[in-house]
Amino acid sequence: MAYPIKTCIVCGEEFELKPDKPGFANRCPECSEAEAAEPERRRPTDALTRKTESEANAARRQAMRDLLYRKDS
Ligand SMILES: [Zn+2]
Repeated sequence: MAYPIKTCIVCGEEFELKPDKPGFANRCPECSEAEAAEPERRRPTDALTRKTESEANAARRQAMRDLLYRKDS
């Protein structure tokens, strides 16, 4: 059975558009895999966001502690 031939919008290579092909219909399997791997590359940014949030929480706790100490003295 022949599949329609599409041209990948990313690399320009022609590929067979199979019905079960994962990813975008206008990208070849190789470029679809590259796109699927992107969440892996985004993980450091998420870690940085979590770090920033935890630092903000730490700063908030420190401010609360300062208020308590000021109340004691
Ligand atoms: Zn491609």
